[in-house]
Amino acid sequence: MPGRDVDLVVIGAGLSGCALVAALKSKGWCGTIQILEAGRGPGGRSATRRRRDSPLWRLDHGTPTLSFQSEPCGQLRELMTSLEQRGVVRVDRDPVVGLDHLGAVVAPPDHPLLRGPRWRGIPTMATVVETLLSDGGNSVDARFGERIQTLSRVDERWVFPGGLRGRGLILSGTLLAHPRSLAMLGWRDVPLREAVPEGHDSVLDEALAWIANLNASIRWNLMVQFPAMDSDSLPRQIWLTPRAQQQFGVERIVLQRQQQGGLGLVMHGLDDGALITPETQPQLMTVQEQRLLSLLPEILQPWPSLQGLVSNAHSLGVMRWGAAQPLDQGMPNALQWCRRVRVGFCGDWIAGSGFGMAEGALQSGLDLAELIAS
Ligand SMILES: Cc1cc2nc3c(=O)[nH]c(=O)nc-3n(C[C@H](O)[C@H](O)[C@H](O)COP(=O)(O)OP(=O)(O)OC[C@H]3O[C@@H](n4cnc5c(N)ncnc54)[C@H](O)[C@@H]3O)c2cc1C
Repeated sequence: MPGRDVDLVVIGAGLSGCALVAALKSKGWCGTIQILEAGRGPGGRSATRRRRDSPLWRLDHGTPTLSFQSEPCGQLRELMTSLEQRGVVRVDRDPVVGLDHLGAVVAPPDHPLLRGPRWRGIPTMATVVETLLSDGGNSVDARFGERIQTLSRVDERWVFPGGLRGRGLILSGTLLAHPRSLAMLGWRDVPLREAVPEGHDSVLDEALAWIANLNASIRWNLMVQFPAMDSDSLPRQIWLTPRAQQQFGVERIVLQRQQQGGLGLVMHGLDDGALITPETQPQLMTVQEQRLLSLLPEILQPWPSLQGLVSNAHSLGVMRWGAAQPLDQGMPNALQWCRRVRVGFCGDWIAGSGFGMAEGALQSGLDLAELIAS
């Protein structure tokens, strides 16, 4: 949209970006917002994969649930109650089992994502972000399929392709602020650092230093379509024990019943440290797909009905998820809003209850809305 000026440009329509937008609207903040999102729709790591040739096929290929450390309270409680009352989420009590390195079904491993309450999007995880974006009446202006590669600031405005200008900028992912993508995207420097030289905003300088220390990690999620079968006795999630994870390079398997009777399976493959560049990525995707597919029969041994159908199952390819995660604590909230250059951060890497998971992503959006609207 040539020459368009808005108050806030939000890069990323994941849980945190969408929670931020919904919270600003519910507070009566009347600024204009433009969302720019690389994906085909909202959701980010909480998105749902659809198929053009099969409209009812839907697979939550990132997170299968919204995990919380403990029962939410305050604004987060209000948000979850409102989503629950509208049928957008339900408490996730679906069976979770563990699988050890010998192939035995055991209790699920102790993991932060499994310790507290969980909610599932109805019918899929994407419904959560879609609802957040449409909350408050007027739907927000969002451009999808638009990956921002550079950032520039001219006359105190953030300037984007197509003549879009924003007074403020929100990054809900760390891509443009973390050195992890320098090799992958052939950048000279972190885009946010290039746009705002050191010394302009001490809060931003501190935030960038903090972000640079985040641990970048990759997931390779294999998506598989199984034919129609009786899936009633199957667990929803199969979590490998730490030793089994090490042995197979797989964290868990998530099963999702499909409306037309088939079954979707997502195998969450772990990072093996391979260097990803534009040249190596296509081959790595193929290698990971073959690796994960070859492990399926062995891992599914305790579920013979499913294992027996592996040869009739159809791979839908691998999705590469990249994220920068804090190791033991999130970025301090005091660095979330850099007033001088009007840059804000939200995401599951911000400090607070539930950082590193959906809870932290939602909470960070609510917290940032508070800072912006105050
Ligand atoms: C495989 C997997 C399994 C998970 N399992 C669980 C679980 O069981 N329970 C749980 O609670 N959490 C789980 N999580 C974590 C959960 O998905 C995240 O905490 C949450 O979705 C993060 O939301 P976010 O908004 O912070 O980030 P994201 O979802 O990453 O959103 C950031 C968005 O910004 C966009 N973006 C980034 N850079 C740019 C750019 N330059 N231009 C345009 N767009 C850009 C991205 O496309 C993305 O949509 C899992 C995550 C993964 C990957």
